[in-house]
Amino acid sequence: MILLPCPWCGPRNVSEFRYVGEPRRRPDVATTTPQQWRAYLYNHTNAAGWVREQWFHRTGCRQYFGAERHTITDEVRRTWRPEQAPAGAEPLLGVTDRAATTEAGPDAGGDVL
Ligand SMILES: [Zn+2]
Repeated sequence: MILLPCPWCGPRNVSEFRYVGEPRRRPDVATTTPQQWRAYLYNHTNAAGWVREQWFHRTGCRQYFGAERHTITDEVRRTWRPEQAPAGAEPLLGVTDRAATTEAGPDAGGDVL
């Protein structure tokens, strides 16, 4: 069992969460080409080692948060709330449009990835 520490709820089974992906800046839809949009949606780094990720606590507090996880060992060395993001971290998805994402949830569609 993998435990993921939610910044609001504490350690929980990873099955309570939804992996959202790599935090990345969403391109400007007014100036992005279809090829750039496709790359944003489908091309991911998929690095082996320590990566920053975004997670959603879908059966708990229903909050988005960031995490640093080792993709080989699944060790999690830190998690953070959006306002506690480490320097240089990309903003978390769903945070700027909180009303739309928390009412409908990320599973209902919307602009999460
Ligand atoms: Zn939580």
